[in-house]
Amino acid sequence: MPYQEGSRLGRETASKLGHLQVLKSDFVRSLIQRFEYPPADDSDAVTPWVSFDPAKARPLPTVIAVDGSLQTIMSDDLPRRELSFVKTALLRMDEHRIARIDRDMPHPIHMRDLAKDSAIYHSTVFPLKNVFVPDQTNYDLVRHIIRDSMKMDLDGQVYETLKWLAYQKWDGTNQRSPEFECPHCKDKESKQSLPYDADETRCTVCGQVMYLTDMVGFHLEMSEDSAPVSLASAYMLIHETLLLLLPVRLAWEQGWIHELSNNYLLIKDGPLMLRGQYVKLIDGIRNLLAWAAKAGHPIHLMGQEKTGLFVDHLGTIARFASPQHRGESPSYAILSHEFIRQHIQRAPDMRELYGHRTNYGEKVFLKLDPHHATVINVPTGQYLNAADRPHDAADLIGLDRILATLPAFISHRFEGGLIPIELANGVASLSSYPSAEVLKMFARLR
Ligand SMILES: [Zn+2]
Repeated sequence: MPYQEGSRLGRETASKLGHLQVLKSDFVRSLIQRFEYPPADDSDAVTPWVSFDPAKARPLPTVIAVDGSLQTIMSDDLPRRELSFVKTALLRMDEHRIARIDRDMPHPIHMRDLAKDSAIYHSTVFPLKNVFVPDQTNYDLVRHIIRDSMKMDLDGQVYETLKWLAYQKWDGTNQRSPEFECPHCKDKESKQSLPYDADETRCTVCGQVMYLTDMVGFHLEMSEDSAPVSLASAYMLIHETLLLLLPVRLAWEQGWIHELSNNYLLIKDGPLMLRGQYVKLIDGIRNLLAWAAKAGHPIHLMGQEKTGLFVDHLGTIARFASPQHRGESPSYAILSHEFIRQHIQRAPDMRELYGHRTNYGEKVFLKLDPHHATVINVPTGQYLNAADRPHDAADLIGLDRILATLPAFISHRFEGGLIPIELANGVASLSSYPSAEVLKMFARLR
């Protein structure tokens, strides 16, 4: 990467001559020789497509969609100060409202009314670099912002949902929180956790206060005096996940979990997955979904992937799947762990089963009409610990009703577009932020 522009010197530009030298390098050439590129398929004999009749199951009449966005801004002068604004939103819609939206040209006023009546928002801001509060390190400042953002905004509903998940409150077993490393002494040997329902506790090694929000592990992204943008994106993802589970908690606490199970579809923009230190929340999410399904209240939950390996792969094969013509049945393909390793990742020898530590939803290709194909994720509850699973609709929670619901959401504005996700994007998006210039003034960065 070239050097970035400084106050005195312009930015370094990569020279054309430099490119030529790279191509002359024997080492680079030997690397390129070893790369394998997926062949351009001219057929698809392996994907397990199954056609289905959406009319066979009852559509879910209410949809909740969750999305987020972030914007990082920098000061113009030196030292460069950096802040990251994060916004998340939850949008609730019913089938009648969705039916009124124009598929090709949604009217901005419709969108605005929808956002006004049925959305909740959260926003916060993180100091990433060269921003201080007296007597606090950036590290502690960010820890406090995370705790306070979850606790104070939206009447603490998101924080209560974190507690509900951390202590698995639905099953009445009064569990301790998942174990984590103390954010102060970072003692790797001692496993710390919070007693049931606690907001904070003291580290058994150094005696300093640890918050429940520290359990999530955001501080592992940070150094003592600055934080990377990945901190803001991790916060956004965790906040979206908690927003998604918020209606489930409310339904459970208020005694309408049966209604939620029967009538609601929860949709997240992006895969149902957490990585790195955040996987410690995965067990809780899987336990919740498995518990609800077993109790006879399956939670209809899905994610939609819009980029990445699965979307690219589907792009090369979707045209071979049915429906090829209007009026033909739609089809789906449930991808087993083995299928993903062999045919999508092309890494059949990897030891661990696909998604074992990180995913709470399995991958499904879906082709709803000749011009609409997409990748969705649907949970199984507990991880299905076998190479050939998931293998049919019975493995995925509520798949039939999810598939019966989605045809009404088809949008042709974007590749694989689904109306609730487009609307949630609109509500959460950067374009509803003030412009970066306004944010800069607001943040006193100029
Ligand atoms: Zn400690």
